[in-house]
Parts: sequence; C-alpha cells; structure tokens
Amino acid sequence: MEHRLDGNAAGGILHEVFPFDMTATQAICGGCGATGPIGALAAYIHGMGTVMRCPVCDTVLIRLAYVKGRYWLDMRGTRVLQITYGR
Ligand SMILES: [Zn+2]
Repeated sequence: MEHRLDGNAAGGILHEVFPFDMTATQAICGGCGATGPIGALAAYIHGMGTVMRCPVCDTVLIRLAYVKGRYWLDMRGTRVLQITYGR
C-alpha cells in the first residue's frame, strides 16, 4: 500500500544521497517538459523505496532505494536538474 505525498516528504532520503536540499532543486520532466521543484513532485514512499512522479504527466522522474548498504538511484525520467548550490 502506498500513499501519494508531495516531494518534500522525500527530502530526508534525498539528503542522504545529495549534500544539499534537493526539494528546492528544479527538475525538468523527461516526459512532458514540465519544470518545477522536486518538492512539488508526487512522492510514493514504501518499503521498496521512493518513487517520485511528475504531477502533470505521471512520468517517474526519480526512483531511490537503499538496499544492503547501497543506494540505488534511477533518474532516467529526469531530463535536467537545475541545482542552486554553493557559489
Ligand atoms: Zn511530466
């Protein structure tokens, strides 16, 4: 069973992989080209990991799981990330 949350709910696990707040990072959807902050994506968090979908076309932008000491990150649905960090 999974519940749809907003992308801010995935901020914790994303921060385990990326050393900054990913929820404010802009993502361009590889499916429809919609652009918005990762915090505005639809997030599905369950035992198998976290799946983040485009709120416009439902394309999966991010899959993230932690299994046996390794993070598995699949971002094939993300066309571009616009990261504002440092500098
Ligand atoms: Zn989309």
